Amino acid sequence: MRFTVIDKQLLPEPLAAQGSDLQPISSIPQWCNPPMNSSFSYSADLQSFLDGKELLPDDLPFPLTLIHQHYEHGYLSYVKGIKKEKGYFCHRCGNEKQERFASFHCARCQQVCTYCRACIVMGRVSECTPLLRWTGPPLAFSLPADILHWDGTLSPAQKIASGAVVTAIKHKQELLVWAVCGAGKTEVLFPGIEAALAFGKKVCIATPRTDVVLELKPRLQKAFAEVEVIALYGSSEDRGKQAPLTISTTHQLLRYSQAFDVVIIDEVDAFPYSVEPMLQYAVQKAKREDAAVIYLTATPNQTWQKEVKQGKRKAVTIPARYHRHPLPVPRFEWCGNWKKSLKQKRLPSNVHEWITERFKDGKQSFLFIPRIELIPEVVKLLKVMDERIEGVHAEDPDRKEKVLMFRNGQIPLLVTTTILERGVTVPNIDVAVLGAEDDIFTESALVQISGRVGRSAQFPDGDLVFFHYGKTKNMLLAKRQIEQMNREARKKRND
Ligand SMILES: [Zn+2]
Ligand SMILES: [Zn+2]
Repeated sequence: MRFTVIDKQLLPEPLAAQGSDLQPISSIPQWCNPPMNSSFSYSADLQSFLDGKELLPDDLPFPLTLIHQHYEHGYLSYVKGIKKEKGYFCHRCGNEKQERFASFHCARCQQVCTYCRACIVMGRVSECTPLLRWTGPPLAFSLPADILHWDGTLSPAQKIASGAVVTAIKHKQELLVWAVCGAGKTEVLFPGIEAALAFGKKVCIATPRTDVVLELKPRLQKAFAEVEVIALYGSSEDRGKQAPLTISTTHQLLRYSQAFDVVIIDEVDAFPYSVEPMLQYAVQKAKREDAAVIYLTATPNQTWQKEVKQGKRKAVTIPARYHRHPLPVPRFEWCGNWKKSLKQKRLPSNVHEWITERFKDGKQSFLFIPRIELIPEVVKLLKVMDERIEGVHAEDPDRKEKVLMFRNGQIPLLVTTTILERGVTVPNIDVAVLGAEDDIFTESALVQISGRVGRSAQFPDGDLVFFHYGKTKNMLLAKRQIEQMNREARKKRND
């Protein structure tokens, strides 16, 4: 869309007189946004569609005349999708890598036009694309008298963490909640979310992973039964909706701007959030400037761990699991050149022995291996021992079915890569990692994998072994982190 500037205000091409001087929005150095006219009767539909977001004109099911009227009365502003300063910058996704921009001859602005390739799946943002932002009164939500419907109890450590979350939300602060796997971190959030909603604040729980969104939605909807809760992910039907409580993939937050008073980021260390600046930008843009930000993680990275130790980062730890048994600590076992063994169609003898013992005890186990391509080889070798053994990975079309069969006890051993490390909880299992020295097994991944063992109160223990061909720093750090949490939990119990 091209614009002309009249009396310092923007006028889009379809509404401009013939012969006007038209330019792509990114080429217009500056303009004024009209002040808000409080007697203007604005469209409630547009407000509910656009409040807290930044969308493309094509995303809005409203005529341009109506949209522009709202601009003229100060209820909407046009923002440059692409900014040109030293280089190109995409305002929607934060991309500033020049190689991730491309040019084409654009029919809309009738010249060569540069667009962002990084966020193209959400519709093209180019030099002539304005993003539309609501600047009128914010959408108000009605809330039930009883916000929280939850009658569970919190452990003492959960209670302390929960209190810290409430305080951080009230004072609009940042807080890291470092909770071991199985600590019950979702429940810890309930009082904080309740307090925020009671103050009329908009809350968003963001996570890098769609499966976590899908898992959280029913739990939160149950706890906040009378509050509208929406779940946003790639193919979600809630995408056009607004609610006081939103659960979203970090990726979907790219459509938002200054929307949330409280942002809770679950699994902040999880790939791809930790390595993808676009997702961090999305969170920064979606929150209000003075928003409270709560980070949840079982495995903060080394930098954050240091900052916590030095008192530079506000944090609260939940070092013990909900059932209060200590976390299983990994054993390290050298297994020689296991890749060579696999080539010779055999497993290292101690790995073979470990698996045989599980079968003898009738105990289910996970075998984590570093590479997807190795799964078929390993499974083939194992099927000789028990043909019910299966392998599964992220792109496996039968993934859901296999995980379900494993849960039901129909598969005695599941060979997998790191992708299943989170979320899959099966009581009474043992876990082994083959090739724990591989780079893919970061400190955080190894702590998460270890966290699969002993999750239920009924079976709080289990065997956990890292088979390796040379110990790595990550292995040592993971073990140290687990031991440190156990020490802290013991200390807290004795206090
Ligand atoms: Zn972009
Ligand atoms: Zn263009």
